[in-house]
Amino acid sequence: MRLNELKAHELLPLIRRHEVTVEEAVTETLDRIAALDGTIQAYITVAREHALQRAKEADARLAKGEPPRPLEGLSIAIKDNICTKGIRTTGASRYLEDFIPPYDATVIERLEDAGAIVVGKTNMDEFAMGSSTENSAMFSTRNPWNLNRVPGGSSGGSAACVIANEAVFALGSDTGGSIRQPASFCGIVGLKPSYGLVSRYGLIGYASSMDQIGPMTRDVRDCALILNVIAGNDPRDSQSYPGELPDYAGCLVPEISGLTIGVPKEFLEEGLSGPVRDAFMKALDRLEELGARVVEVSLPHVRHALAAYYVISSAEAGSNLARLDGVRYGYRAPGQEDSASMMAASRGEGLGPEVKRRIVLGTYVLSAENREKYFNEALRVRSLISRDFQEVFKTCDCLVGPTSPTVAFEAGEKTRDPLEMYLSDVYTVPPNLAGIPGISVPCGFDEEGMPVGLQIMGKQYDEATLLRIAYAFEQATDFHRRRPEVPQKTYQSESAGGERSV
Ligand code: GLN
Repeated sequence: MRLNELKAHELLPLIRRHEVTVEEAVTETLDRIAALDGTIQAYITVAREHALQRAKEADARLAKGEPPRPLEGLSIAIKDNICTKGIRTTGASRYLEDFIPPYDATVIERLEDAGAIVVGKTNMDEFAMGSSTENSAMFSTRNPWNLNRVPGGSSGGSAACVIANEAVFALGSDTGGSIRQPASFCGIVGLKPSYGLVSRYGLIGYASSMDQIGPMTRDVRDCALILNVIAGNDPRDSQSYPGELPDYAGCLVPEISGLTIGVPKEFLEEGLSGPVRDAFMKALDRLEELGARVVEVSLPHVRHALAAYYVISSAEAGSNLARLDGVRYGYRAPGQEDSASMMAASRGEGLGPEVKRRIVLGTYVLSAENREKYFNEALRVRSLISRDFQEVFKTCDCLVGPTSPTVAFEAGEKTRDPLEMYLSDVYTVPPNLAGIPGISVPCGFDEEGMPVGLQIMGKQYDEATLLRIAYAFEQATDFHRRRPEVPQKTYQSESAGGERSV
């Protein structure tokens, strides 16, 4: 097995025991990217020089006898809406094509302090709006299991690079499913933490009342290791959770007998594809065999979740993106006579069609005559959905359902119909509206070899129980061990969207 194929918890002991240098480990990942990313197109920017420099510094530190840090020498890929000081951060938008942040997001500071090394920035739907990574202004990412399919979105580049061994793990962001849905489409583990558990400082905001950064990993143990480092209070994020946190990796016992697991009946209604239903039903059997009690529950208002989500998220997106005005940073349209036409032209030329659609929708639902009818109504639905969850969590330790109604779809299949695309988030948006955590873990494959994800939803700030259940399920199955075989092609031969190094 090559170093870049190892999980974080497998590679760490080799580095700690000095059996492998950090430079060797990072170089294997960078070589894998060079060999494969012309095909997968997961990265917008590969930070090769930066990563090798950091690797040498880490080796020098270890050679001096300094103790290894918790994530020493692990190559990490970062979704391109998370600011990295000195490394281009585009949000996959033409608008920020040349933006180099002057500061690091809190999660980057924490990961680097823990010894992780950023190897690159991954492709996504522009400003995280989308479910297939086809809304990227740069290029589309391919699903490593089948190159004609999408990797999901919006954190599609992060999911694809983790399953293709082009990074040990990655960070994504999730506002309505953008970590969990691509994790499910690519057969990896993706956690959307409780709202406020992980600092959003340095994340390019989409819908700030729902945005969360989270880990995308090859297994649950890695997910817990990363969460240990990135979770925790940050005074620079006003919504940051101030409470004490457990050692998440320490909570991983494969033991769930006696726990009660609820299955919302609304998650199994029309729209759910046959292969996903089959895999999900088998997953339920497995959870029962492990000693859990599986019960049907109801979340009566959840059928309005998608509508409420798109109203609220578009309203918030419209306000967040007002800062892109052509004045302070990012794209400025040339040759305009006054500031109003400069702003209009900069936005007109710099933003893609989906982003514009959301801004227009957001402005519409917040306008004086529509605010009550749409925005305030959506907020009421949101409260009812939160209450539904609180009610079922009185009797259930967690809830389970499919992560997405289908497996990864064909590239181009849904690009012409935004509503079709929005439907792929139907099971992932309710946890964002309620602020609770959700994790997707691999739970099967369809007949064509495409992965299926199981979504487990937990009580707010109870990631420990969520991870424990995910771990028990994973240990009782072997879906997380499978890897796709990807034909190799170097990116020199087909450049995926311009400059790819810093
Ligand atoms: N697909 C959803 C949207 O387009 C979710 C995106 C996300 O979680 N960032 O809004």
